Amino acid sequence: MKHLLVIGDPLQAHSDVFEVIQCSFLDRSQITDNTAAIVLNSRDVELVDESLKSLRQHPETALMLVYNQRPTRLGEALGDGKLPDDLPDEIAQYERHLQWLHADVLEKSRYQLENRMIAYLWLNRHRRIRPIRVLATRGMYQYPLIDLWDDYPAKEFWLASASRTELIKTEKLIDRVRACQRCNSGMLNYIDTCPSCHSIDIQTEAAIHCFTCGHIATQGAFMRQDNLVCPNCLTTLRHIGTDYDRPLEDQRCNTCNTLFTDAYVKVHCLYCNFENDIESLKTHRYYSYCLGNLGITQAKTGSDRHMLPAVMGDALSREHFVWMARWVDNLTPRHQKRHMVMALHLKNLDDLSLKRSEIELLNHVEEFGRRLRGELRKTDVFCRYSTSVLFFLLTDADDKAIDNIKARMESIGKEQIDNPLEIHVLLKVFPDTGTVLDFNAWFRHIFEELMDD
Ligand SMILES: [Zn+2]
Ligand SMILES: [Zn+2]
Ligand SMILES: [Zn+2]
Repeated sequence: MKHLLVIGDPLQAHSDVFEVIQCSFLDRSQITDNTAAIVLNSRDVELVDESLKSLRQHPETALMLVYNQRPTRLGEALGDGKLPDDLPDEIAQYERHLQWLHADVLEKSRYQLENRMIAYLWLNRHRRIRPIRVLATRGMYQYPLIDLWDDYPAKEFWLASASRTELIKTEKLIDRVRACQRCNSGMLNYIDTCPSCHSIDIQTEAAIHCFTCGHIATQGAFMRQDNLVCPNCLTTLRHIGTDYDRPLEDQRCNTCNTLFTDAYVKVHCLYCNFENDIESLKTHRYYSYCLGNLGITQAKTGSDRHMLPAVMGDALSREHFVWMARWVDNLTPRHQKRHMVMALHLKNLDDLSLKRSEIELLNHVEEFGRRLRGELRKTDVFCRYSTSVLFFLLTDADDKAIDNIKARMESIGKEQIDNPLEIHVLLKVFPDTGTVLDFNAWFRHIFEELMDD
C-alpha cells in the first residue's frame, strides 16, 4: 500500500486507499519510493512555507505531489493546493505522467532549470508557475518556485523568453506593474507638481473671475462680510454667469504663485530617488504560466530546445540550408555575384551552461543575438550546424560588404567585454572553382576549420 505523509495536525483521508503516516515536522527519512504524496496540515503557516520551500528545493522531492491544507504566503506558488476529493485519480494521473516523462528530462531535472520546470508542470496538469507579491523587493512580484531553482535575478524575462518558444504559455495576466526606468523598482510615488516650476508645494483653491474688470483672484480676496466684492473694481458680484464665473485654473503653486488647472505629474522612485516622467516608466507584466506545446513535446520526447536558434528566429534544417546555398549558387554565375557563408561558433556555450545560471546565460545569448540580428538582413537565412555552431548564408556580397561584415563582427566581439560568451567567426566566400560545388563537403570543411581553431 502506498502511503500519504501527513505533516502537522492528524488527518484521516483516503485511508481506505492509502496508509496514512503522521509526523509533526518534515522528516525526510519518512519519504520513500512508497510515498504517494505529502500533505502539509500544520496550523503554523511559517512552518508550512518552510517545508514547501525545503521540499521543492531538494532535487529528490522537487517534483512530488505536496498538498497544503491551509492558505499560506507561498502555498499557491509552491504547493499542489488542498487535497482533492479525487485524490486517488490525481495520484494515478501523476504516476502515469511520470512513466511518460522522458528519462532524459527526468535525469536533467535534477540539476537543470528548464527540464525541472517542464517535468514539474508536466506531472500535474493543475500546476502553474505563479508570481506572488513581495513588497520588499524591487519588482513587487517574484516567482518563488523559479527563485528556489535559480538564484539569478530577472526571472520574468527568462519566463517571457520560454513562453515565446512555447515551452510554457501564459495563462493569466496577474498584474501589470509600472517601474522606474533607472532601477526597475515598482515602488513609485506619483505626485502632482506645478507645471511652471515643478514644485510639489501646490494647493487647490477656489478662484473668482470678475466680468466687469477681468480680475482673477482667490475667493478669499473677494469676500466682504457675506458678499463677493471685486477687490480691483469694487463691483458687487451677485450672479454667477452674469457678474462672475469660476475660472478653470483652480490650483496654485506656493513656490512661484502660478495658477493652473492641470498639474504636471512626476513619478518619484522610492527606491533609487530617480524622478521619472510618467511616459518613460517601464511596464512589467506578471503572468501565471502553464506548460506550452513545445514543453509537452519535450516532456515526452526529451528533445532539447536549442538556446541559439530560439533567440535568432527560425532556423532552417541543415538539408534545407544546403539546398538554399545550391539554389542561390545556380541562380548567378559565381564570377558575377558572390555569396558567402558565415560560420559562428559559441565556443564555451556548453561549458557555461554547466557553470552559470541558465537565466544569466540566456541573457547573454539574447544580448549577443540582438546585436547579431541588427547586423544581418531579414533575408539572411541560417541553420544550426551543431549545438554551438550556426551557419549564415549571406547572398550578393561584394568586396565592400565582405569587409563591412568582417569589421562589424569584430566590433560585436569587442563590445562583448561583459559577456562571458567566446565567439569565433569564419567568413567564406563561395570558391570560384568553375566546377559544381559539393556544399555538404564544403560546409563540413568549414565546420572542421572552425572547430580546430
Ligand atoms: Zn472687477
Ligand atoms: Zn511653481
Ligand atoms: Zn528607481
